[in-house]
Amino acid sequence: DSQVSDGEAVDRTWPRQNSLSMREWDIPFDELKIGEPIGTGRFGTVYRGNWHGDVAIRVLNMDYLDDEKTLEAFKLEVATFRKTRHENLVLFMGACMKLPRLAIVTSMCKGMTLYTHIHTCKDKFNMNKTTMVAQQISQGMGYLHARGIVHKDLKSKNIFLENGKVIITDFGLFSVTKLCFGNRKGNTLSIPPGWLCYLSPEIIRSLRVRRKHDEEELPFTKASDVYAFGTVWYELLCGEWPFKAQPPEAIIWQVGKGMKQSLANLQASRDVKDILTLCWSYRPSERPDFACLLKTLEKLPKKRLARSPSHPIHLSRSAES
Ligand code: ATP
Ligand code: MG
Repeated sequence: DSQVSDGEAVDRTWPRQNSLSMREWDIPFDELKIGEPIGTGRFGTVYRGNWHGDVAIRVLNMDYLDDEKTLEAFKLEVATFRKTRHENLVLFMGACMKLPRLAIVTSMCKGMTLYTHIHTCKDKFNMNKTTMVAQQISQGMGYLHARGIVHKDLKSKNIFLENGKVIITDFGLFSVTKLCFGNRKGNTLSIPPGWLCYLSPEIIRSLRVRRKHDEEELPFTKASDVYAFGTVWYELLCGEWPFKAQPPEAIIWQVGKGMKQSLANLQASRDVKDILTLCWSYRPSERPDFACLLKTLEKLPKKRLARSPSHPIHLSRSAES
């Protein structure tokens, strides 16, 4: 039985044995050569680096991580990353887990993110490429879910495209960084731009009460990952985000009430639109899982492109473009 692997056995006996097995993934900070910063996101800065080759190093801000208990929680979260081995997922190489230096080391993604392709370069993907990308995302996400890992931050910024191959990054990071950051300081709800449209109605609705129940976690689930996938599918098809140019309050109100971005301007087949409608279902239980999405995507017709390669099918984007 493949379930009774070493890793699984170790996890069940946490915490005594887990700290032992974690040593394998513990990279001494001095062994890392940290280079230029690649960029800074909500959760700190990612650096180009070298550790037995090119790597990406996410250095975590641990100003708020001051007690052993939180550090143990951090280690437990990081321990889930080592369970991931899939060609559409970024390779987790290890972590520095000695205070005050915490860092997560992954393979370096060479291509651009879908975000950069779609929103910065305004690249237009034909239907075949769109489907191919969506299939690979579903494959990687299906694997994560099968391993019991919820991504919690699936979005075009966390999906790289390397020579036609999809690499998903930052899975589970939301929980890790939440432990390290004083994200909940003050009395205001800070909403980074471009985040809301990936949040499912149940998460949006809990955002609104979060001020009162500060300790409560956002209710991320496999189904909320599927909702986020729906938004990525929309970005791929339309070249923009749903609810474009609407203020956060308007999005929160609409999504919380179960309203969806209109698909009237999207010229696509019924099957293509159905994927959006299903992934964006108000009720989490009505959203398909990734195995089901994969089947649907595989069935989308590819014939027309093959017949006239010089005229790839461009879905009409919104009226103005
Ligand atoms: P957000 O803050 O909204 O999550 P983000 O995903 O761009 O946005 P980070 O994940 O913190 O923010 O990433 C910071 C920068 O590092 C981004 O430019 C991102 O593309 C890049 N980056 C992150 N991981 C890797 C990686 N494994 N390989 C190459 N570049 C990476
Ligand atoms: Mg990221």
